[in-house]
Amino acid sequence: MKIVVVKEKRKTISLKIENSSSAILKVPKQLSQKEIDKFLESKKHWIEKNISKMTANEEFASSFDLKNNLYIDGKLYAAANTVVLGFDRLSETGKKTAVRKFYKSQFVVLENFAKECSDRFGLFYDKIMPTTSVKVWGSYSSKRVMKLNWKLVIVPRELAFYVICHELSHSKHFNHSPKFWNEVERMCPNYKILRKRLNEYGFLLRSDLV
Ligand SMILES: [Zn+2]
Repeated sequence: MKIVVVKEKRKTISLKIENSSSAILKVPKQLSQKEIDKFLESKKHWIEKNISKMTANEEFASSFDLKNNLYIDGKLYAAANTVVLGFDRLSETGKKTAVRKFYKSQFVVLENFAKECSDRFGLFYDKIMPTTSVKVWGSYSSKRVMKLNWKLVIVPRELAFYVICHELSHSKHFNHSPKFWNEVERMCPNYKILRKRLNEYGFLLRSDLV
């Protein structure tokens, strides 16, 4: 583990684990090496716990070959060259575009699924749109527009279900209050587990490949 120490004008210490092999430690200018060591020693277990979590996340992410394969509903759907004509002859950019186009063509599945959930639970939206956000899986605006990240096509459908339930609940509550979560739970009783599992797919949001 490489820990980069940044001494700067600040009052508190901040430690951020970047990935399984590096972290950034920001400390007040006057802090001595001895105090830094003492701090790191006191955080040893926390650091170890986070490293193993990051390692597991990285291993999970690397089990997906997003460049060459297509995934739907959390499973390998096909090698891209068996679906996209002449895939192997495309440039890197061309491949990316083709893969993206494939996923976007699948968005209709999410649209239909959201419609089904909306009817089933009696919570509505006026419009549904795909989003390419690198931060969120979905959103629901005061204009009743539900946006779903088109990368949700790739994750297991029950995780997309959680996101849809979450956004539908915003049609009633424009916040994340206990009432909001009760509404989510009504539709999706195991939402806490699903939300955790969805976090493991966070690498998809940040990936520029799809
Ligand atoms: Zn929300």
